[in-house]
Amino acid sequence: MSGRNFLFVPGPTNVPDRILRAMHRAQEDHRSSAFPALTKGILGDLPKVFGTTKGQAFVLPASGTAMWETAIVNSLSPGDRVLAVRNGQFSHLFVDAAQRLGMQVDIIEVEWGAAISAAQIQSALEADKARAIKAVLVVHNETATGVTSDIAAVRAAMNAAKHAALLLVDGVSSIGSLEFKMDAWGVDFGIAGSQKGFMMPAGLGILCVGPKGLEAVKTATCPRAFFDLRDHITTNATGYFPYTPSLAHLYGLREALDMLLAEGMANVAARHKRLGEGVRRAVAAWKLEACAKDPSTQSDTVTAIVVPAGADAEQVRDIAFKKYNLALGAGLGPLRGRVFRIGHLGDLNELMLLGALAGTEMTLVDAGIPVTLGSGVAAAQAWYRSTAS
Ligand SMILES: *Cc1c(COP(=O)(O)O)cnc(C)c1O
Repeated sequence: MSGRNFLFVPGPTNVPDRILRAMHRAQEDHRSSAFPALTKGILGDLPKVFGTTKGQAFVLPASGTAMWETAIVNSLSPGDRVLAVRNGQFSHLFVDAAQRLGMQVDIIEVEWGAAISAAQIQSALEADKARAIKAVLVVHNETATGVTSDIAAVRAAMNAAKHAALLLVDGVSSIGSLEFKMDAWGVDFGIAGSQKGFMMPAGLGILCVGPKGLEAVKTATCPRAFFDLRDHITTNATGYFPYTPSLAHLYGLREALDMLLAEGMANVAARHKRLGEGVRRAVAAWKLEACAKDPSTQSDTVTAIVVPAGADAEQVRDIAFKKYNLALGAGLGPLRGRVFRIGHLGDLNELMLLGALAGTEMTLVDAGIPVTLGSGVAAAQAWYRSTAS
């Protein structure tokens, strides 16, 4: 098939040519005297993306999933009780990781498609008279349902309950795209990966730990080796890593940080909001439902779209892929076959998205779903025109 594959899954995202070129280089000695300049530059700039001046950044050759594990084993001790909210596949897997690592997890079940309820967190923490709960685990942007939750409200609920639990936040599909205010929201562990907002291939786990989190790293007694942040704290201080880093990824991350910081994080978030709104208007014009129940919680990085009863979202994805070279995101877990997703994060502009919306429209008609060709594209065009700078 000629032309580029239209990659509109919510990760991995499009890798800008600048980053591809930056990653394409010869290997070098990661113990040379020149190497610390690269490490220190990256670790110095990463906190800006997380919205913190007090946090310490870590980069591991791993993925977002591994950063759940890193955050858990570096902050907790075997058998600790934690509170987690489950409102989609990623929060489900975060819970699963905590359970497999030996934590007792109190789960607040929320309908998939709804956001986190801060009030429920507050009452669960208030009910914990013995202060046995050591951490609260939440996903900022539930990529499976296209729902963004209010982390400032979660922090306010924890404060209102006067509870000292740590706050562990998965921001894998939000950090680097959406507003993320680690200091203002009192996030103790902020979790990210390279292949979403950072516009890189998968392969890096990216973590930022606040002052209270860093204290917990010292006292947590979970066994840990590869993921032991204490080794990173020691070696990163001199500009090195405890083991061989992926040089290609580090050079890619350097370029990604240059791009994000040149645009400015507030502008990055505003761009995602504007692009995401175009997709939401297209979905409304198609008269289809978003999986996100409350419009004010709909994500600016991913839209999950429910197919009408009787239709198969996996068939929609397959038609898009085979006929139009367009990759749409799958429904995950219990949502498989019921929703497909359009990822709209990373290196993206209006015309790329309009192409994806046009391909999605053709696919929906091919799948026998009654949408009017051009309706969604027109709605998005009108929005992008009226808001163009
Ligand atoms: C993609 C994603 C993950 C998993 O990250 P991997 O890099 O695939 O391990 C975790 N949480 C959220 C919210 C995600 O979107």
